[in-house]
Amino acid sequence: MAGAVRAVRDAVRRHSARFERSIPLIASENLLSPYAKELLVSDFHSRYAEGVPGDRYYEGNEQVDEVENLCLELARRLFGASFADVRPISGTVANLAVLKAFADPGDPVGTCRLADGAHISSAGFGAFGLRSVKPVYYAWDPARMTIDVEKTRAILKEARPKLCLFGLSLFLFPLPVKELAPVLEEVGAVGWYDAAHVLGLIAGGQFQDPLREGCQVISASTHKTLPGPQHGILLGEGLDAEREKRLRSAAFPGVTSNHHLHTMAALAVSLAEHLAFGAAYASATIDNARVLAQALHERGFDVLAPDLGFTRSHTLAVRVTAEGGGEQVSRRLSAAGIITNKNLLPGDTSSKHPGGVRLGTPEVTRVGMGPSEMVRIAELFDALLHKGRAPATVAEEVAELKRPFTTLKYCFAEGEAAYRFYDLVGREP
Ligand SMILES: *Cc1c(COP(=O)(O)O)cnc(C)c1O
Repeated sequence: MAGAVRAVRDAVRRHSARFERSIPLIASENLLSPYAKELLVSDFHSRYAEGVPGDRYYEGNEQVDEVENLCLELARRLFGASFADVRPISGTVANLAVLKAFADPGDPVGTCRLADGAHISSAGFGAFGLRSVKPVYYAWDPARMTIDVEKTRAILKEARPKLCLFGLSLFLFPLPVKELAPVLEEVGAVGWYDAAHVLGLIAGGQFQDPLREGCQVISASTHKTLPGPQHGILLGEGLDAEREKRLRSAAFPGVTSNHHLHTMAALAVSLAEHLAFGAAYASATIDNARVLAQALHERGFDVLAPDLGFTRSHTLAVRVTAEGGGEQVSRRLSAAGIITNKNLLPGDTSSKHPGGVRLGTPEVTRVGMGPSEMVRIAELFDALLHKGRAPATVAEEVAELKRPFTTLKYCFAEGEAAYRFYDLVGREP
C-alpha cells in the first residue's frame, strides 16, 4: 500500500507543479497565505469542538475557544456585523443553515435563475430542493446583467417570499438590494446575501455593502475573493435575539457536527490579513478584471456588458459561440495552461452546452500580476482561439509569463512560494 501513498503524493506534486506553470483564471479560486496554510496541518485538525466557545461538549477546547473568539471578533470587525458564526464548513453548508433558520418546507424563497448566474444552491437538485422550498425567480435584465427592479417588485408583492436571496456565481455587478429593500420589508422577507464570490471585495469596501443596504444575513465561502481556507461563514446585522438563535442552532447542530477547527484557525489568520491588505487586494483584483475584459474585447472577443465597463467585480463573462462554445474553448485553454470554466450565460437554452466561459482575476492578482500581464493574457487568448496557434506552443508562453509570479502578495509572509508542496515527512514511503 506504500505504492498508493507514493502515487497520491506524486499526483499532488505534479498538480502543484502544473499550477505553478499555469494561469489559473477560475473566478472562485484563490491561494492561501503561508500563515493560514501552516494551521491546516496543525493539531487543530485532530480535534472536536461542538457547541460555542465556553460551552462545549468536549474537554480540551480552551485554545480552540481562544482562536474561535478571535475569529468571530475579526469577522464582525471586517464586515461591520453584529453577528458572526464561523462554524459552517463551506458556502453551501452556510446556505443550508440560512434556509433551515428562516424558511420551512414549502415556503417561497426569492432567487435568481441558474442561467442568470445563480449558484446550484438555488436549484431543485441543490440546497433549495434539499430544504423543499419553492423558488420565486426574480426578473433579469440581460442588458444590464442584474436584477430588473421594477418587474421583481411586482413578483415579490405577488409571491410574498419569507426569504430573499441575493447572490450569484457569475457576479459581474452589484445587485439592487437597496432598491428592493422596501418591498422586502413590506412582505416581511428576510434579506439574505450570498457573498461566496464577492466576500473579499465587500470586505475591501470595493463592491456593495449588503448589511447596510437591506440584508440582515450574509452567507459565504471564505476561499474565493476572500483568500482564506475552504470554509464557510455567516454574518448578520439587525437580527433579533430569536433569529440569531435560530441561525446558530441551524449552524450547529443543524448542518454541522464538528466545524473543522484547523480551517477555522486558518480563517482567523485570513480575516486578519484581509483587514490589513483587503482594500488594496480587492481594488487591484477588480482593476485587473476590467483591463482583461477590455483587452479581450479589443481582440474581437464577445465580452458581456461592454457598455457597462464589462464588470465591477473580479469576474468577466465571454460568450464564445463564435470560438466553438464554452466546452471546447475551456478545454483548448486548459491544454495551453490557462485554467477557466465553461459557464451558462443568460439566453443559453442548453445547460449541457454553455455558450460562455467565466474568467476571474483573484489568483493572478494575488501573485502580483497587473495590467500589462492582463493584456498579455488577452494576446494569448487571441493567439490560441483566433489565430490557430497550437496549445502546446502557447503553453510555453504561458509558463514564461507565469515564471516570475510564484510568490504571494497581500499577506504577512509575502514572498513565500504560492504553489509550494509542504513536505513534512521528508522522505518517500
Ligand atoms: C461557490 C458558491 C457557493 C458554495 O460554496 P462552497 O464553499 O463551494 O460550498 C455558494 N454560493 C455561491 C453564489 C457560490 O458561488
